[in-house]
Amino acid sequence: MRLSPSQNGDTNSGHPKVIVERLNAAFRTGKTRSYDFRKAQLTQLLRFFDENTDTLCEALWKDLHKPRQEAILTEIEIVKNEIRKCLHDLKKWMGPHPVEKSISTLMDNPYILYEPYGTVLIIGAWNYPVNLLLSPMVGAIAAGNCVLLKPSEVSENTERTIEQLLPRYLDKDCFEVVCAGPEDTGRILKEKFDYIFYTGSTMVGKIVYEAAAKHLTPVTLELGGKSPVFVDSTADMYLTAKRIMWGKNLNAGQTCIAPDYVLCTPAVQGKLVDAMKKASKDLLADPKQAPDFCRIVSTRQFDRLKGLLEQQNVAFGGDVDTTSRYISPTVLRDVDPESPVMKQEIFGPILPIVPVKDIDSAINFVNSGEKPLALYVFTNDNNVSDKILRQTTSGGACINDVIMHCAVDALPFGGVGSSGIGSYHGFSSFETFSHKRSVLQKKLGWDFLLASRYPPYSNSKINTTTALLKYRPALPKWLGTAIVFGAGALSGYVLRLLTNPQQLPREVREVVYGDVPMHDGM
Ligand code: NAD
Repeated sequence: MRLSPSQNGDTNSGHPKVIVERLNAAFRTGKTRSYDFRKAQLTQLLRFFDENTDTLCEALWKDLHKPRQEAILTEIEIVKNEIRKCLHDLKKWMGPHPVEKSISTLMDNPYILYEPYGTVLIIGAWNYPVNLLLSPMVGAIAAGNCVLLKPSEVSENTERTIEQLLPRYLDKDCFEVVCAGPEDTGRILKEKFDYIFYTGSTMVGKIVYEAAAKHLTPVTLELGGKSPVFVDSTADMYLTAKRIMWGKNLNAGQTCIAPDYVLCTPAVQGKLVDAMKKASKDLLADPKQAPDFCRIVSTRQFDRLKGLLEQQNVAFGGDVDTTSRYISPTVLRDVDPESPVMKQEIFGPILPIVPVKDIDSAINFVNSGEKPLALYVFTNDNNVSDKILRQTTSGGACINDVIMHCAVDALPFGGVGSSGIGSYHGFSSFETFSHKRSVLQKKLGWDFLLASRYPPYSNSKINTTTALLKYRPALPKWLGTAIVFGAGALSGYVLRLLTNPQQLPREVREVVYGDVPMHDGM
């Protein structure tokens, strides 16, 4: 739906306040909480993809010239896999998650319940306009929330497709798609949501964070940054070059975790440039004519990227065509770290190589900038990759490949510092959209176990309580069970012996009962 103009009163059905109230009311009915509802909505989302693959691919082609293979793998299949995983694990995730017990909780039941926040706002970006909007939505539905989806207005064909088709598949009371540019998104952000999930630039991320803070709304911010690549001399140059060029030119470099720049020694630079030139030709012999290479999304982005090429030492590429917003796969060599291309996230098919003296200089270089979303190392020496991982930070990292870590659903995906807050994918998505409610279930009984907490207080009670509550490494689960069963079995045995003294050994009976009774035949 479109928002009604701001001058229309807040009783209008397209006013942000009314939309949010509607979703809140639907949440309060409790219908999103049941397993059956969540499963049905996720299944419908899967149907949406199955029945509209071609339409989505067409829209992505119009927006970004996105090749069908890229559209299917990076926008559709990846989200469908998220749904499949959710459907498989949802029951388990929705149940209580027991936590470690201590001596003081041995007889209790401490656990975490994952419960929905309520109404969540998901704001998407234009570069993967299906994936970045609907992948978080999978987690939001699985966790039992109502959702307001805000696609990016920049990828307008995909925005329109989702606006028109998605509501046909999902519950109309609980899920809404709203189309809005920056100004209207600002109006939406004035409302109080229970959670906001935002993907986009760090600059707008700050605006979203500020708006959320006014209502103390928790957020996930999936932002950007400059993701470095280290290449050392032990790496296989051709395979390294091929993987880097693939990752850089996927979606024409408009990928948040695309390799942004390469750090290597001058000696490696020469070999790497040769290998990249060959790999680039092998992957895309004629990128301008090939259907396998994207275009830049807008004239604004195209002009910015064209500007970054000025006064650079182009190793290969550098061809641009304004009419089709085409920029060829481009590698820049001997790049000055102070040049504009190194002062902003590139987000296009331009790859600068910055020569450094050694691995320590490379580490210092990365650590002197903002914390990146991804970091890549190509080496055959584990000591090198270990050192880099230990001495730097980033949202995620991948050794000897690029981008692929984000396809592992068991790995939380997200940034750190200015590249983001929070993470998602797989169980992590479910966690992100859930409040972790801590529950301690005790029995009304066994009060003597922690009776020392009650007044009147005394030194001996302090000592007893301290000993009971003192941290000890977790008891193995089987030990707690064994103690309980062991104690039960032992007391049963003792009770039986005491009620049938003739089963006791003679010596014990003498001690316990004095004279040995004669009716046991002994
Ligand atoms: P963007 O910040 O321009 O827009 C993202 C969303 O914010 C859009 O839906 C847009 O409508 C909305 N928006 C824009 N201006 C706004 C404003 N003033 N107030 C409120 N909302 C506003 O980002 P983009 O250009 O679409 O995406 C590119 C950036 O996103 C890059 O930095 C990239 O690294 C980052 N990104 C990050 C991830 C990730 O998963 N971490 C994924 C994709 C893109």
